[in-house]
Amino acid sequence: MSAATAVIPKVVIPKVVILGAGFGGLELSSRLSEELGADVDVTLIDKHDSFVFGFSKLDVMFGKRKLDEVRSYYRDIAKPGVEFRQETVQSIDPNAKRVVTDQGTYDADILVVALGADYDVSATPGLAEGGHEFYSVAGADRLRDFLPTFSAGVAVIAVLGPFFKCPAAPFEAAFMLHEMLEERGIRDDVTMYVLSSLPAPVPISEEISGAIVGALAERDIELWPSSRVTSIDPNTHVATIEDGRTLAFDLLLGVPVHVAPPVVVEGGLTEADGWIAVDPATMATKFAGVYALGDVTSMPVPRTGVMAEGEARTLADVLLAQLSDGAPPPPFDGVATCYLEWGDGLVARVNVEFLGDTPPHGSFTPPSAAITAEKAEFGATRRRRWFGSD
Ligand SMILES: Cc1cc2nc3c(=O)[nH]c(=O)nc-3n(C[C@H](O)[C@H](O)[C@H](O)COP(=O)(O)OP(=O)(O)OC[C@H]3O[C@@H](n4cnc5c(N)ncnc54)[C@H](O)[C@@H]3O)c2cc1C
Repeated sequence: MSAATAVIPKVVIPKVVILGAGFGGLELSSRLSEELGADVDVTLIDKHDSFVFGFSKLDVMFGKRKLDEVRSYYRDIAKPGVEFRQETVQSIDPNAKRVVTDQGTYDADILVVALGADYDVSATPGLAEGGHEFYSVAGADRLRDFLPTFSAGVAVIAVLGPFFKCPAAPFEAAFMLHEMLEERGIRDDVTMYVLSSLPAPVPISEEISGAIVGALAERDIELWPSSRVTSIDPNTHVATIEDGRTLAFDLLLGVPVHVAPPVVVEGGLTEADGWIAVDPATMATKFAGVYALGDVTSMPVPRTGVMAEGEARTLADVLLAQLSDGAPPPPFDGVATCYLEWGDGLVARVNVEFLGDTPPHGSFTPPSAAITAEKAEFGATRRRRWFGSD
């Protein structure tokens, strides 16, 4: 796809409208404010009043932190040139770069869609009645109360879609559940499985996958790869896998099917695969002056916060170059570092590279106190940068 170049009036301050204040929207608005200050007019729109890191959902779910402790409030954003509005986007006209929310209409010079991925719980029959999704803030918070009531039987962590955010998260959930059951002295009363749609935990890297498979085996957690659960019988508590195999369970923690937010689909922004296509070099969509980043796109990288953040940095450079008639920046390299909860309060690290000259690859660094501290600092730097506080 060729980059759609915005026609930006140079004499007036450009009006940038960013839809979604997640990893991508927060990083982009911060960077534009840092570079341009009051010479840019950024409106950042999100339906929620606060941001929660994906990884904090696991802390909430396993009772390590309360929801109130992991929220960062958008009202604390105080950046030159940036105004946050808590509104719900109701329609997007990408040809006119016009957005209608529940509270008003916005006409943008530059429109950025960073609305993330929604979950379609109803796409998996029986999930709502017979299982528990743990990917939403509400789902994680419900499990915080429910998990202490589970004491014996078969526990399954099941991936329900063909792909999903943060490929490591189902395994982190497994390690943390194992730890919780050990602490409660009931691990021997529970048989644990992880059922994934992928052929290996992190298919691009034997090193990372091998480390995760080894850690599952050490904890006596059985992995069923290429085993996407497509339906659940809430009465008999049996999960059915794509190829017809079944598994009876007492507790099912599900990674729900991901879809683009309906407002993005209705606006005609998505392709046949259900996601927004972008030029990986510039994040430009096929509509002039309209860009997209993060989980809502079909960028050939895993859906993670760190990738959305990297894409936002690239898009900021693209916009800054356009505004100053400068040379185009290098394309997004798809390089990222992710932290993996390993249980017992320790964190491991994976480094991945997706879009360089070599095929996608990654490396694994075993858990340590130093990496655990590094992850805490990762969160703290984002909170400081985006919200001005720890
Ligand atoms: C359990 C779990 C663990 C994870 N761990 C990690 C990790 O360790 N590292 C990592 O990098 N990633 C992790 N992730 C993934 C990460 O959270 C996402 O990939 C990341 O948030 C994507 O960023 P984004 O900006 O594309 O979308 P999001 O951060 O999802 O932001 C989208 C925003 O759009 C808003 N929105 C949606 N629709 C509307 C509308 N109609 N009107 C207004 N606002 C709207 C939403 O409220 C949301 O704030 C994890 C995810 C989960 C679920």
